[in-house]
Amino acid sequence: MTTPTPSPYAAGAAYIDGRYMPVSQAAIPITDWGYRRSDVTYDVVSVWQGNFFRLDDHIARFRASMNAFRFQPRESDEEIKAILHRCVALAGLRDAYIAMDCLRGRPPAGVPYHPAYARNYITAFAVPWISLLNPEVMARGAHLVVAEAVRIPARSVDPTAKNFHWADLTRGQFEAHDRGADFCVLLAEDGTVTEGPGFNIFVVSDGRIATPSSGVLEGITRRSVIELCGHLGLPIEVRPVSVDELRDADEIFLSTTAGGVMPASRIDGRIMGNDRPGPISSRVQDAFWSRRAEGWHATPVDYAAAET
Ligand code: PLP
Repeated sequence: MTTPTPSPYAAGAAYIDGRYMPVSQAAIPITDWGYRRSDVTYDVVSVWQGNFFRLDDHIARFRASMNAFRFQPRESDEEIKAILHRCVALAGLRDAYIAMDCLRGRPPAGVPYHPAYARNYITAFAVPWISLLNPEVMARGAHLVVAEAVRIPARSVDPTAKNFHWADLTRGQFEAHDRGADFCVLLAEDGTVTEGPGFNIFVVSDGRIATPSSGVLEGITRRSVIELCGHLGLPIEVRPVSVDELRDADEIFLSTTAGGVMPASRIDGRIMGNDRPGPISSRVQDAFWSRRAEGWHATPVDYAAAET
């Protein structure tokens, strides 16, 4: 009996500027400004049980981020979608984490050393699904701390355009680590709550839910939670959230593509409820996954794209 040859794409498939390759071979030049200056924008979409979640919404946000940072890659939105289908199909993944980036490139010799003269290009990859929280932390609820580091002001780097200016979030993550917590939460300079490293934040007080209205990425999962609360009849407000509300909340939960709805159980060492995910957070989390299993905002992956 012959053993089937393992697919070179088993660990994931990538696309760089017109070419497909196994993810282990995907590399960009170290001279690229995407790397040297974080001059890059990106988006991340998930595939679960063979379906993309809100693919068009992610592509629309990716295009808006590219426009905000003045990137003009050659690929159209339809072409980017086809690239993502092909990466997932090549990797043969049913549950996947799919990233798409647009990099500045670098101005060629002989033209001004200015970003306007660089040719921008797209990269993408699909790898097995990644969750920010491992199953044990998901079950007990994340431990959060409010960091000393404040979020980069929105007037300097627009947080609604997805970016890798993560020095504030990374500094906050070291603070969280030093204090034995899982994640930091960053405040804006005015003391209101913004977001954390890769997620939006929801506070629950007296049965009412609130999420910050500004200084944040307008998460696709956040939008989904807002819709779900409407379906579930849970009152939700999008408005400034003070740090006191966060610290005194009955419950807190987080939302992200890489994990869905993620309950927290401690804030700055204070135990919320019974040190486990709260009832409203769990209700939203359960509804999120059951709606997705029903095909909510789903686009089936075109697995035949692997053959094209
Ligand atoms: N906020 C930040 C800073 C993020 O990087 C992310 C996702 O990576 C989010 C929020 C959540 O956004 P989404 O739900 O679209 O994944």
